[in-house]
Formats: sequence, structure tokens, C-alpha cells
Amino acid sequence: MSGSERESRRSPVREGLWTVPADGEPRLLGHRCRVCGEVFFPRRVTGTCSRCYSQRLDEVQLGPLGRIATFTAVMQPPAGGRYRGSVPFCYGIVELDDGVRVKGHIAAAPDRLRTGMRVKLSIDELGRGEADDVVEIYRFHPTGE
Ligand SMILES: [Zn+2]
Repeated sequence: MSGSERESRRSPVREGLWTVPADGEPRLLGHRCRVCGEVFFPRRVTGTCSRCYSQRLDEVQLGPLGRIATFTAVMQPPAGGRYRGSVPFCYGIVELDDGVRVKGHIAAAPDRLRTGMRVKLSIDELGRGEADDVVEIYRFHPTGE
């Protein structure tokens, strides 16, 4: 990484999706319903559980480890023109060890992936934003286990 890259502003693709605690391993930010136990990712913007309608939601940290439940190769950029990454890319559903399923990018070629494969969360550069800032996403990497 060059000096100029290090000075670039880093922006999450969306605020509030993840945190990086003191151990340095990123975690996704979710909600757990205190009444029925349902876990949500991302956090519920309404503040209400969609299963039991309770408003007693606690913030929880999810990950970083899980397994690929299913995946696909995306051959064209998503519609809307705001996508900053390259294509093709792999996208899938990962079942975290916490028991919750989340959607996200998977950092490997499709022929290197299989369902059930162990993956780990990381925060990666997606591309450059309009202000030449580094746009970051959460993404899963095969652990090789
Ligand atoms: Zn609930």
C-alpha cells in the first residue's frame, strides 16, 4: 500500500453493518429479540421484531466464522450505477456459527467454492467512490479448512 492510498478516506458501503472490536476481528452488527430470540442482520431499522413484534431488541455482534449455505456467480454489475466493484464476483448466503444466515460477497472464483465450505468475515475494499474514497464492504473468505 502506498502512502497516498493509506491517506484515502475509507467509507463503508453502508453505515452500521459491522464493527471491529478490540480483538481486530470484524463482526456484523445485528439485533436479537429479547422475547422470542430471533436474530436479525442487518439491524432492524424499525426497532421491532418482525416475528413477534416486540420492541425489545438487543444489539449483537455476529461472526466472524460460518459456512457457505449457497452461492452464485454474478456476471454483471448490479443495476443503479452505484456499484464500485469488479465483475464477475461471487455472492451467497453464509450461515454464521451464531446460527443466523446473512447474504454477502464471497472472495473466491466460483469453481473454488462449494456449499458447506468454512468462511471468515473480513472488511475489504470494493472500489473507489465518487470522492476517490475507498469504499469498503464486508466479505467472506474461504478459511481453507
Ligand atoms: Zn421477537
